[in-house]
Amino acid sequence: MDTHLPIAMMATSAQPSEEESRPLYSFSPVELASAVVQTSNLSADLSPRQQDTLATLKMKIDALETKYGKEGLFENEDILRTYATIFDDLFFFGSLISPGQNRIIIKSIDKYYAHDIHPRMGESVHIRSRGICEISIWRLNEDGQLGYRNLSAMTLLHEMVHAFLMLYACGPCNKSWDGGGVTGHGQAWLDIMSILPIELVQHGVLDSSVFEFLDLESDLAAELIDSKREIPDETTLEGWGLNRKRLEKEMMEYQVFLAELGERGVILP
Ligand SMILES: [Zn+2]
Ligand SMILES: [Zn+2]
Repeated sequence: MDTHLPIAMMATSAQPSEEESRPLYSFSPVELASAVVQTSNLSADLSPRQQDTLATLKMKIDALETKYGKEGLFENEDILRTYATIFDDLFFFGSLISPGQNRIIIKSIDKYYAHDIHPRMGESVHIRSRGICEISIWRLNEDGQLGYRNLSAMTLLHEMVHAFLMLYACGPCNKSWDGGGVTGHGQAWLDIMSILPIELVQHGVLDSSVFEFLDLESDLAAELIDSKREIPDETTLEGWGLNRKRLEKEMMEYQVFLAELGERGVILP
């Protein structure tokens, strides 16, 4: 599709009636990413929605900590949904969660799914017939322990960026490298995901340990190999805060992983 809706229809600061005018699958993924990146600067002019969220943030998190403990683990959907609403109001124009028109469903699942060398803590499944994404966050980490709050928060954010692009970007464009790419971790996704955690930490929503869980090199490694692309130039990598050596290591590991799967006759979906 060559024609996309003007991005202003997405980035509007949104009264409920305006939210209805954001058709799914209609925007350029590149424009969506730059709109999110622009709006994610929480030190700049904030929309009323963002101001409101930042003003009530501490209260919301305190309430969760009182209820579930300070070392609070992401044990339940109440905690996940509170964070999802905060992320949505700060970065996604409230386009994912709104009363009467929820675009994402969030589930806390009691399992751990190991994708061999690519352990995942969650997934986002697009249900096109219903115009929604179902986001599942695993409760358990690789040792079978309950996952840390920051790990779950990062996983949640990661999946929400996928959901945002899958739901609002034009489908064919989103499959290209400058959109979500073939694995979901293309340029538009990286542009967004490399920025949001920094803003969240700077504004005290999450603490800096989240960066330990932000393994963008492994996300990009799979994207590059599956789409048979060369490693982007140094400036691009630096823009995403990525380390070339680490990316190359991840790519090698991913190739070994694929070869082993091939020997066992497994074909990835
Ligand atoms: Zn298109
Ligand atoms: Zn992903």
